[in-house]
Amino acid sequence: MLALRDSHGRILKDLRISITDRCNFRCLYCLPETEEAANFYRTRFDAQRNPNPSHGLPIQHEWKPRDQILRFEEIVRIARVAVGLGITKLRVTGGEPLLRQGVEQLVGQLAAIPGVEDLALTTNGFLFSRKAEALRQAGLQRVSFSMDSMNPENFKRMTGRDGHASVLEGIHLARTLGFRPVKVNAVVIRGINDHEVEDLAAFARQEDISLRFIEFMPLDSSRAWQLDHVVSGKVILERLQARFQLVAIDQSSNPSETARRWHFADGPGEIGIIAPVSQPFCGHCNRLRMTADGKIRTCLFSLHEHDLKPLLRNGASDDSLAERLQEIVLGKEAGHRIGQKDFVQPARTMSCIGG
Ligand code: SAM
Ligand code: SF4
Repeated sequence: MLALRDSHGRILKDLRISITDRCNFRCLYCLPETEEAANFYRTRFDAQRNPNPSHGLPIQHEWKPRDQILRFEEIVRIARVAVGLGITKLRVTGGEPLLRQGVEQLVGQLAAIPGVEDLALTTNGFLFSRKAEALRQAGLQRVSFSMDSMNPENFKRMTGRDGHASVLEGIHLARTLGFRPVKVNAVVIRGINDHEVEDLAAFARQEDISLRFIEFMPLDSSRAWQLDHVVSGKVILERLQARFQLVAIDQSSNPSETARRWHFADGPGEIGIIAPVSQPFCGHCNRLRMTADGKIRTCLFSLHEHDLKPLLRNGASDDSLAERLQEIVLGKEAGHRIGQKDFVQPARTMSCIGG
């Protein structure tokens, strides 16, 4: 059976497909291009004491020209070839994937690929209510929202957009339409939303959703990330355990899961902690990423990308694409180097890579 096996013995099962590099939000940890964001990074932390080793000029991101963005048939073709190599999970992401016109048609085509066991989408949720039913009908199984605050003002500060009510509406609608589980991701940043972890967890219990707290990673366009900004998963967990009775979920059957998870002893819903900075899980990573412009990334923190467009657009066969994917995967990094002296932040932000 053909597989995507790397040189460290890991077999990849999960392909994350970014379908646009554009976004309608300006999150502080991703595209911090608001005055709020500039003020936050300027005033809160002592960059001398705790520098970002990759500190340098901000990443000047320009939206990719349309002709460089993969067309739906190109995305579906790569997905089909990857599924032929053992990928079973597909996640559509971005940028903000719901900005891409016809996203529901793309989802329908991905859902129809034989061998796809799990089809999910990550969204900031702002446009979700408008697209939800069409996405569900097209075959989308799961959706993850990003919502870092329960407070509309703080939400606006973090995302640059007055959108808290719309995102909440989207989350409720996802539950009503039967997406299960509904996940909500919250990136926790010291001094910005760390006082809200209990409120976010209470929301998970009240709404029966899975709230996943994510450590802030150095993937922001300002290259302003510092270790001081990061609230470790351990601290988040201690805070939540002080307030809620949490029961650890047995995850032994799925070691590649990024989140360590707990359910509430006294109610529905669960929390997860994703701690790539303080507790890297690279040894079990089974993920591969494709950017909207057709570049394969073997790690969030890869410094090299592999462009599939020349093959796609010059008549390569499916077999050659499969061979190329296998060759690329062989070079998957053992792990990231966040926190090491030689760490270098990738040239593209999370919004371009696809989370
Ligand atoms: N726009 C969509 C959204 O926000 O859900 C999808 C793309 S976004 C890049 C995917 C995920 O990456 C989001 O959950 C976001 O919170 C997370 N993310 C972005 N920048 C991050 C960072 N610097 N550290 C940790 N997570 C980050
Ligand atoms: Fe925020 Fe997602 Fe947009 Fe990045 S891509 S700015 S995380 S909404």
